Amino acid sequence: MTDNKIPVQGFLSQNSNNWDSAKSTHFETGRRVHQDKVHGLRERVQARRKSLNDSLEGEVRDFLINEGELHTYDDLTKVNPVTPTTVLKCLQARYSARVFYTHAGCTLVALNPFHPVPHLYSLDVMREYHTAPKPQEFKPHIFIVAEAAYRNVQGQVEPVDQSLVVSGESGAGKTWTSRCLMKYYATVAASSQDSQDTVERIEKRVLDSNPVMEAFGNACTLRNNNSSRFGKYIQLQLNRSQLLVGASVQTYLLEKTRVAFQAANERNFHIFYQMMKGAMEQQRQEWKMPRAQKFNWLPNAEKILEEDCFAETLEAMVHLGIDSEKQAQIFRILAGILHLGNVAFSPPTDESQPCDLEEASKAFLQTTADLLRIPVEELQSCLRVRALKAGRQSTLLKPCSQAECSVRQECLAKVIYAQLFDWLVSFINKSMCADNSRWCNFIGLLDVYGFECFQKNNLEQLCINYANEKLQQHFVGHYLKAQQEEYVSEGLEWSFVQYQDNQGCLDLIEGSPSSIFSLLNEVCRLNRASDAKQFMVRLEKELCSSDRVSWDKFSKQPHFIVSHYAGKVVYQIEGMMEKNKDPVPPELIRLLQQSEDPLMHSMFADAHAEEETTRGHTKVVTVVSKFKNSLESLMKILHSTTPHYTRCIKPNPDCRPLTFKKEEVITQLEACGIVETINISAAGFPIRIPYASFLKRYGLITHSGTLAQLTSQNGYESGDKNSLGSAVMDVLRVVLKGHTPDPQLHSDSTTHSS
Ligand code: ATP
Ligand code: MG
Repeated sequence: MTDNKIPVQGFLSQNSNNWDSAKSTHFETGRRVHQDKVHGLRERVQARRKSLNDSLEGEVRDFLINEGELHTYDDLTKVNPVTPTTVLKCLQARYSARVFYTHAGCTLVALNPFHPVPHLYSLDVMREYHTAPKPQEFKPHIFIVAEAAYRNVQGQVEPVDQSLVVSGESGAGKTWTSRCLMKYYATVAASSQDSQDTVERIEKRVLDSNPVMEAFGNACTLRNNNSSRFGKYIQLQLNRSQLLVGASVQTYLLEKTRVAFQAANERNFHIFYQMMKGAMEQQRQEWKMPRAQKFNWLPNAEKILEEDCFAETLEAMVHLGIDSEKQAQIFRILAGILHLGNVAFSPPTDESQPCDLEEASKAFLQTTADLLRIPVEELQSCLRVRALKAGRQSTLLKPCSQAECSVRQECLAKVIYAQLFDWLVSFINKSMCADNSRWCNFIGLLDVYGFECFQKNNLEQLCINYANEKLQQHFVGHYLKAQQEEYVSEGLEWSFVQYQDNQGCLDLIEGSPSSIFSLLNEVCRLNRASDAKQFMVRLEKELCSSDRVSWDKFSKQPHFIVSHYAGKVVYQIEGMMEKNKDPVPPELIRLLQQSEDPLMHSMFADAHAEEETTRGHTKVVTVVSKFKNSLESLMKILHSTTPHYTRCIKPNPDCRPLTFKKEEVITQLEACGIVETINISAAGFPIRIPYASFLKRYGLITHSGTLAQLTSQNGYESGDKNSLGSAVMDVLRVVLKGHTPDPQLHSDSTTHSS
């Protein structure tokens, strides 16, 4: 509670003249919230909303929402009452007034303008926020968050690492915001006097990691032309003089299936289109990519996007130290993947034989082998024939069906691309990391997928929504803690509510002994033919005690429904086990290990070809286990830092400039928990009125000299916050309990204030 503001339990408007008609509702609600310490927040908030709506009829409600002023509310906690509708109205009013940032307590809400607003992000604006003694008094801006983190790194006693968590749905502006933050630090953390060559180079490298990682990890989807298909946590390393001296990046869950499968009207990763459109003649010859060549895995190439800029990617690669030889190796591999996608299998005439390959496919296969520098015969055999272990020594060869051949073909492309992406990330890390990062502090920027709920949801959505549950839990924990500390510092009486956040949902997904993840892993380890129906029965039997899971009795598809903090999601079980195992036939790995291409060779040098088995059980490191581990490491880092939250909101589904669609926004407000965030503060003290205004208006109620004394003090703002807080609590107590204040308390207050 900055600026000496007073929190008031209830819905008291700052401008209220209608105190009498409103007060009974306010204090009833306030008392109930205090008594109710054990129930979950959601229930309380819902009940509270209901009671509010029931009682704040007509006049009072209209009075409380001052629509004419809504656009001037730079913090959503000032909106009164806090309901999804009023929050929405406020954001809409601000968006119409071209104001894109709004605080929501300790969170910043960023509405995507879908329109360039260069003056908002100019170097001058950066400098203004950076040099201001109190940037938080400026208009809400992402630079306030950036600057707060930057100043916090130094810490009051010792340096404290910071994290900026940027969330929101696809197209909301997370990556845009992260880039903006990186530019801010590359600007303000580069001191002109101290910027020697190395420092300059580092800033450039850090910024250049963006176009390279986006070229390889972003793609055009239905929801965003430049959609990140991976999660990213980048740590900007600052030395003791607060200069940017390096960075390191960690990525999560690359959507590698996209390399071999693109949904209708979507595209593959940008880099393939960049190559296809931007290659020089000599490169085209080397990669066997004439302009007119059509590739199955390169749909919608006719779309013209600004992201298709090969020259920019190449330039950034050079700055990162990826020399022309390495570049050549990378692009050869990518071209090899594209040719692999044009290989088509047809069923054999004799079923005991492997699938047939037409002449055109043979040529594509040959080119693939040439570009990947692997023997073509072995490539052909790996794609068409399965090697089955028979006992310890012998291997049985079995021709694959046409469908199995396609699965192997896609699997090969996915494993190569994913490995190449990982290689690239570790190269970028080596190139950016400070020489002595142990002595640095960092500001971490987290740009991860937002909560997802599609018509069909599978393992990918489960992992993403699980990550969002984790982040939400972290957010709530941090937010409540910060609030409590603030109340204590202001001497406010506050019986803190033990908030049972979304632990129930996390237990359901990842807990032990039984959870969705543990059961899924068990089924995958048993390595039997995976039966989706059986798995569903097992889930029903073992997880029925959780109130966070349910089933639709009328659905014929094997599924389960999880009640996430952001809403219910129906997950399809079909295909989930296979996705979790994500098997790579060992012969494919062995084949890639034979590559004469040095990059390919190094990429697969440490890969394990053999499946380890113990007593008939396959030792598979499943997708969910890996994801859970990487998320746990991330959470550990987040817990060790001071977090700052930015929630990006997509104001319309079509990415249209300056267009605000209420239905679209309200769903996101619910999904990212903004309304809940404000309600968490409402469960505590939702209204923050400056002490001066409050005591001036209501001080008389107590008939006490204390308040008169306090109100007459010239040095109000400099007055003892503690005693002001106690005095205000007296006023509230009188109104709540209808009795005069305890004289003892008053003398205490007087003592404190004097
Ligand atoms: P995804 O989850 O799909 O990766 P995202 O949240 O990262 O989505 P962005 O790619 O950052 O979304 O933003 C989508 C588009 O919105 C950007 O390409 C840009 O055109 C526009 N945009 C986002 N933020 C701003 C802004 N502050 N000013 C102008 N345009 C913006
Ligand atoms: Mg993105």
